Amino acid sequence: MPSDRFDAHLAKDSSMPSTPAAQASDLFGTLTFGGDVMLKRLPSEVFANLQRTMQSGRPLDPAIANTVASAMKDWAIEHGATHYCHWFQPLTGTTAEKHDAFLSLTSGGDAIERFSGSQLIQGEPDASSFPSGGIRDTYEARGYTAWDATSPAFLLKTETGVTTLCIPTVFVSYTGEALDKKLPLIRSIDAVNRAAMRILGIFGTDAGVERVIATLGAEQEYFLVDEELAEARLDLRICGRTLVGAAPPKGHQLDDHYFGAIPDRVMGFMAAVEQRLFELGVPVKTRHNEVAPSQYEIAPVFENANVAVDHQMLTMHVLRATAPRFGFRCLLHEKPFAGVNGSGKHCNWSISTNTGVNLLDPRDDTHTNMQFLVFLCGVIRAVDARADLLRAAIASAGNDHRLGANEAPPAIMSVFLGDMLTDILDQLQTGRTTKTRKGGSMDLGASTLPQIPRHASDRNRTSPFAFTGNKFEFRAVGSTAAVAWPTTVLNTIIAESLDAMADELEKRAGANPTRTKLESAVRALLKATVKNHRRICFDGDGYSRDWHDEAESRGLANLRSTADALPALKSKSAKSLFSKQGVLSGRELDARYEILAEQYATVLGIEARTLVTMTRTQILPAALRHQAQLADICATTEAAGADCPDTVAELRETVDRVSRLRRAVSELEKAESSVSEGADKALRHARERIVPAIEAVRAEADALERSMPDDLWPLPTYADLILP
Ligand code: ADP
Ligand code: MG
Repeated sequence: MPSDRFDAHLAKDSSMPSTPAAQASDLFGTLTFGGDVMLKRLPSEVFANLQRTMQSGRPLDPAIANTVASAMKDWAIEHGATHYCHWFQPLTGTTAEKHDAFLSLTSGGDAIERFSGSQLIQGEPDASSFPSGGIRDTYEARGYTAWDATSPAFLLKTETGVTTLCIPTVFVSYTGEALDKKLPLIRSIDAVNRAAMRILGIFGTDAGVERVIATLGAEQEYFLVDEELAEARLDLRICGRTLVGAAPPKGHQLDDHYFGAIPDRVMGFMAAVEQRLFELGVPVKTRHNEVAPSQYEIAPVFENANVAVDHQMLTMHVLRATAPRFGFRCLLHEKPFAGVNGSGKHCNWSISTNTGVNLLDPRDDTHTNMQFLVFLCGVIRAVDARADLLRAAIASAGNDHRLGANEAPPAIMSVFLGDMLTDILDQLQTGRTTKTRKGGSMDLGASTLPQIPRHASDRNRTSPFAFTGNKFEFRAVGSTAAVAWPTTVLNTIIAESLDAMADELEKRAGANPTRTKLESAVRALLKATVKNHRRICFDGDGYSRDWHDEAESRGLANLRSTADALPALKSKSAKSLFSKQGVLSGRELDARYEILAEQYATVLGIEARTLVTMTRTQILPAALRHQAQLADICATTEAAGADCPDTVAELRETVDRVSRLRRAVSELEKAESSVSEGADKALRHARERIVPAIEAVRAEADALERSMPDDLWPLPTYADLILP
């Protein structure tokens, strides 16, 4: 963005804090109704009761609700809250909240603040305006929210200083079917727990373990652009991405932005975001410049997946809400700028016992760590067997611009393991596992520098699903995604796979096997699993053409668009998986397909209409002014008796371009207005008609932008928006 705007903004807002006022550890969780506050404010037996639900997954005891509600209300009011809301994650992919005041009237007409246990436990928002994917008719309006005590309530403060008590809830229909993303997530967390506990039971390592917890740490990439410039573009305002725009003269070719010095104004923004997130108990840890100019990243310390998912939604909210204070617009879209690096959300995932043992930690002598190898092979098996569902879980109109569009990671699902584990898989396949490759240390060749340890494996940026030391990193998730859904799918397919491994082990080893019998059953199972599912493992360059060919020969799917990916959710086998694991009924899964398909078509419809408007009201008029100027030059030059063949040629070219743009925009209008009934048709129509029509308009518009005088071009350019 131009530096004068930056300076003007700094001058305008001298109250801008440059660093948070307090230590992170002092601020941490001050706006959450967490352990410390509860301990102070709840009677000890109520506290213990609630902790049992929060820590060990015991059913919530409704008898404690009144006491908890009253303590929560007092605490919230002391912090300035006047209202409470049930905060939930409907299938729109955002969060929803309906506020109610604590204020109520006594029978004598006196105003008091009241919040009862039943108001805490259950709410009744009108369900008819939320997508239900056919589960409900619009006239069947009743829906319920139900308190999820395993995710702490928090106070959401707006930039204007209004404070609301937010209670994380799940959202179901009158018939009890999940209308949100959280209920299936919580069910999937239970499914992984059940299956993983079976494996621990077989190995006899379940003693003292109450449950296995899925853990999640989601790194968020985003762009910051000047708010005034973003306001000047209808596409950024409505779609969150640019629908036209020629590539800037400099992108990230010099690799000088990644990890570069963070500009002051951005740093001020990051610190303010972190401060707010610390208060909300979101443990954000890492911040840095990303690959593209004006692109950044924020990453938290991992937490249990349920809380991490809520915290991820809050992170996106706080990023967006804080940006205007610094004159920024925060763009979370997967591809705000064509030809410039896109944004993803890297979902780091693992499973650990409630006693803190990470089950995906290979430890030193990995080749002897049979339990780890069973979990590892369980993940490999899941990703191979259910690659289609994992792909469907990250499909969206925005993510189509990254996956399968010459950008990493590719739309082909594969697993990166690294040298150390690949070597162990080789050993497993040939029979005996005898050694674990070590990383060792590196001598940097300068006596003043220390020797530094080297990991046993390198990293791979191009893999959609990479093992990174003691966790998997699902890198293909889109930057706007609500991570509940991909995490739900991941948990579910892994639960299925671990169940299958446990079945197999029980069958091979029998009841109460001796150590030797168990070990030979494990070896046989691992060998077979590696043999059957190794095709999904790929450590090479995921961006390369060769990989596409290789993947095809291995029989791996390359589902380039949402329209190709979503139908996997409709398969019989998907239905049986989700219902068997107790995560989604057939109807609930169908509903997700319908809603995701409709969202894809709706997003493209909105993009199409936005582009038509911009083209007709801004780009074509500007191009015609340019054409008129050229015509004027030709006429006056010729009238003065001189020839101007170059300008005449340019005029002709412009006339041609303008008429091509007119034709393209008419085509787009036609495609957009031909309605397709039903999710299947809408998906195909969007992919086959709308997407190419948008691209065709864009090609002409971008060519015009490149050839027109800067003062006539009606939109802020890429250079204005993202170059320093
Ligand atoms: P890396 O060096 O691979 O980037 P980091 O330690 O920086 O690893 O972690 C990246 C992200 O992965 C962070 O959000 C972190 O909290 C998360 N993470 C680390 N360990 C786990 C785990 N066991 N489960 C889930 N997420 C994890
Ligand atoms: Mg990472």
